[in-house]
Amino acid sequence: MYNPKSLNAEEFISHEEILETLAYADANKENLALVDEILQKARLRKGLSHREASVLLACEDEGKIKEMYALAEQIKKDFYGNRIVLFAPLYLSNYCVNGCVYCPYHLKNKHIARKKLTQEEIIKEVTALQDMGHKRLAIEAGEDPQMNPIEYILECIDTIYSIKHKNGAIRRVNVNIAATTVENYRKLKEAGIGTYILFQETYHKESYEVLHPTGPKHKYAYHTEAMDRAMEGGIDDVGLGVLFGLEMYRYEFAGLLMHAEHLEAVHGVGPHTISVPRVKHADDIDPNAFDNGISDEIFAKLCALIRISVPYTGMIISTRESQEVREKLFV
Ligand code: SF4
Repeated sequence: MYNPKSLNAEEFISHEEILETLAYADANKENLALVDEILQKARLRKGLSHREASVLLACEDEGKIKEMYALAEQIKKDFYGNRIVLFAPLYLSNYCVNGCVYCPYHLKNKHIARKKLTQEEIIKEVTALQDMGHKRLAIEAGEDPQMNPIEYILECIDTIYSIKHKNGAIRRVNVNIAATTVENYRKLKEAGIGTYILFQETYHKESYEVLHPTGPKHKYAYHTEAMDRAMEGGIDDVGLGVLFGLEMYRYEFAGLLMHAEHLEAVHGVGPHTISVPRVKHADDIDPNAFDNGISDEIFAKLCALIRISVPYTGMIISTRESQEVREKLFV
């Protein structure tokens, strides 16, 4: 049964609630009086529920869609002005024991070289990034308890923060590593991390289990409940995200907002950021193998509606998106 306050993944991301939400959105997508009412509520800048936002996503009325874009743009200007925050990803290690079928680092991929940066190499990489003007990083590593234990991640964070180069230092290290224990989240908190980022990939449990056939990441509940453990470990700055293209985008959108509502309901704080990656071509990965790919147009609508639905949440658009797409979304 759907319960946003539950700590059980299948209750706060209830499959039935998402299906009912999608049915409600379909039934009301041409109900322009309701669409107007929802847009009016969105203008208060206090956000929208997953049901309300799903109605807007389903609505195909051109005039209303224009209003959605105009409102998203206005909210962006009012809240953030022209400010764009840049951060650079730093891949520490691509050793990984998981079998995610959409990622080139999956364990069975024997085409790619495996590499784990030493502390000396990290100093060189970070110095080069600082020379490019970067002050914020997102460190990334595959899940491999032998090659990338938490001690390695903590050592890397310590190394990065200790680098003083041309009188400057990295101000913020965001961390994107696999779901872990409360104890490890506490250690990350003590290491002074910025945002803990973990992509859900997909909120659809059955698809999740098929897309993650092997490795610790296979466990849907452990993965989906990770942000609760992070918050229990003292990290109140977390970043959500789904990988668009794996499942039906309307399903993911509702799940994403339900996850944000859950964090707010249980911990009193929603996600700091939401990322919107899309499945892309990579070694051993053919995006055409995933039949839920979304067009640039739908992608832009999703971004606009996330902006409207969770106005205080930063949105992360990666440079994997084309310049054209990024320029359109940044306005
Ligand atoms: S856990 Fe991360 S790095 Fe490993 S295969 Fe999956 S997506 Fe790739």
